[in-house]
Amino acid sequence: MYKSKLFNLSRRRLALWYAGVMGVILSLGGLTFYHMITQARWYALHRELESVAGTLHDGLEPVLKQPGRMDEQAVNQVLPYVCFASTNCSLPPEMTQRHSLSLFQQKGYYIRFLDLSGRLIATVGQQPEGLPFRGNALCQTLEDRKGNRFHQISMLLDTAGHQQTWGYMQLGRSLKDFDEDLTTIAWLIGLSLPISMLLISGASWWLAGLAMRPVYQSYQRIQQFTADAAHELRTPLATSKAMIESTLEMDKLPEVEARDTLNKLNRQTDRLIQLVQDLLLLSRMNLKVLNLKRQPCCLNDLVMDLLDEFEALAIAAGLRLKLDIQVEQPVYVLGDEEQLYRLMANLITNAIQYTPKAGCIILRLIAEEGYALLQVEDTGIGIPESEQGQIFDRFYRVNRDRSRHTGGAGLGLAIVQAIAQAHQGRLAVQSQPGNGSIFTLLLPMRMR
Ligand code: ADP
Repeated sequence: MYKSKLFNLSRRRLALWYAGVMGVILSLGGLTFYHMITQARWYALHRELESVAGTLHDGLEPVLKQPGRMDEQAVNQVLPYVCFASTNCSLPPEMTQRHSLSLFQQKGYYIRFLDLSGRLIATVGQQPEGLPFRGNALCQTLEDRKGNRFHQISMLLDTAGHQQTWGYMQLGRSLKDFDEDLTTIAWLIGLSLPISMLLISGASWWLAGLAMRPVYQSYQRIQQFTADAAHELRTPLATSKAMIESTLEMDKLPEVEARDTLNKLNRQTDRLIQLVQDLLLLSRMNLKVLNLKRQPCCLNDLVMDLLDEFEALAIAAGLRLKLDIQVEQPVYVLGDEEQLYRLMANLITNAIQYTPKAGCIILRLIAEEGYALLQVEDTGIGIPESEQGQIFDRFYRVNRDRSRHTGGAGLGLAIVQAIAQAHQGRLAVQSQPGNGSIFTLLLPMRMR
């Protein structure tokens, strides 16, 4: 569960949608499966009837001499135990074992022979009661008086030599086992559907949580960012306001006092401007609306310029800034020289800020397997391993109070990271508390 109501609501909605869509797909799948099974079984049943009817048709026609009449002896040789209308035809129990008969006894088959007017001539097997006679229908599904369903095929029989039409042969089969099997399948599908829906609902809830997690994390980051930005802006604004108020409360304002206050206000305003500029740069880089140049930049020149600019600052801080160029040829990369300079300047400024007096900072340039490596190594206070993953986050400071006193707003490394990414570069930090840090920037080299 999330702390925010909005996210819990969205998660619930997402889970409901997932479960709903999956439920519809599953139901459609179940219906299609049921339909296919019904069709396949029906087709098999029909083919079975057709093949039995065909065999009987071919066997019986040669022994039929006159329309509507059957020679008992001749017909019995093809189809034993035909029961002629108006005779009592109870079957001896041992005869039910005979193959040709057992089909009609066991599977609910029946045969009816009718003349062309629909008068019953003879039957085989257990006869359903009260089946309607529809002579012209080739195959039909019928119901007897008790409501039992039967599938029936009707065929016209000719007399021997196809001289005349003899009458009808109707071969039918009970649909009892067919209906029972389908009912069982329908029950199985019907039962498995709610069970599957339960499982799907659980999975949907979990999946919705999984899908929401990155959105929630970025929402939290935005919340944190807004709070941090407000906090950073509030401090110089509050200081400025306090200064203005105390100055206004003075009866007389000597010029020296006024200048001092204005100077302080100027510094606070500079801080604010710098903060807003940094934030603007970061958001432009994130939105990819900052037009970075893509020109060949010579890294040898870049490090030389950096040394020139920061040497004096390092000396003033009681530090040595050394250059270690490990390449023989000039190293070029494609990018925005101004931004790369800014990136390196941020790293060097940090190294100066977080290295105690008498320490040393090395600015290194290496070329390796198509990559240029720019390193800023210091012998400073170092960064605990647990914090190394977060130092590139906006407003993150390792030791809040101390960094605040020495450093800036905690945006320096976020800017470094954004510039590196915009140049398809990679940043890495190796550091041990008390033993200094090495920040490495890896950039794809431009072949000349
Ligand atoms: P800041 O403006 O506070 O320097 P940065 O984003 O540049 O913010 O750095 C984030 C934090 O990383 C700093 O507050 C500091 O604690 C730590 N840090 C950065 N560079 C170094 C370094 N060279 N040595 C030790 N700590 C460092």
